[in-house]
Amino acid sequence: MTGGERLYTTEAIIVRRRDQGEADRVLTLCTPQGKRVVIAKGARKPSSRKAGHLELFARVRMVVARSPSSWDVVSQAEALDPHAALRGDLVRGTYARYVTELYDRFVAEDEGGPALFDLMSRTLDYLSQIEVGESPSSALDLLARAYEQRLLALVGFRPEWGRCMGEREGHLCGRPLSVRGRNPLGLDPERGGALCAECFQASAARPGVMPLSPAALGLLRACQRLPFARLRELRVPPALLTEVERAMHHYLTYHLEQDIRTGTFLRRLRRAL
Ligand SMILES: [Zn+2]
Repeated sequence: MTGGERLYTTEAIIVRRRDQGEADRVLTLCTPQGKRVVIAKGARKPSSRKAGHLELFARVRMVVARSPSSWDVVSQAEALDPHAALRGDLVRGTYARYVTELYDRFVAEDEGGPALFDLMSRTLDYLSQIEVGESPSSALDLLARAYEQRLLALVGFRPEWGRCMGEREGHLCGRPLSVRGRNPLGLDPERGGALCAECFQASAARPGVMPLSPAALGLLRACQRLPFARLRELRVPPALLTEVERAMHHYLTYHLEQDIRTGTFLRRLRRAL
């Protein structure tokens, strides 16, 4: 071992991979210690023994050599669960890609921890096992929605679905939200959750605020609170699944764009100083 080089062993899920140079691969990993980017040298050579263990979505145990000046280098790899079903099936694969991309976009390098790793591991296990036969979209969509709620909570953007996040005369409204009413409620990503019917009426014109049906709020709440084994048993009408998917797309995009804008602003600020 040369000066400064240190080996460590970690479990990891490969959330992204791209080719590098002639024969190498750069891997983005979800590990119990956080998000890491490493390089697997020679992984694209037919003779590589590591290659078969370093597939996208696989859960792997690897030995990595720390590199102070560049990416850490994968020295050994052994697939613990290859999650082959996620690569052999277009539908499952699309959901798996969504799950891993969301992690990649919300979690910065060296951030995250064991809870996010467990979430990723369990979500990909479920995705591998769900029967895609009879009612394909319902269970897969509910799993994606449950994953979003848990991911957001772990990265500090947990949406509030229990009480109104609206503002009344400079104060938080805070009214408990009912999922039984008939009037439309609101979704306000900027304020981090749902609005009661009155606050929605008052702020419907504000950019970013969108209507949310009481039934959709009920489903979002279930996605946040119920274990997936119970959630998947719910019978959810397709229109409601679509509404909730749109609402979450709106919420997620808002927070990702805010992040990107903040990052851009910070970079500009640094240049100006
Ligand atoms: Zn309110």
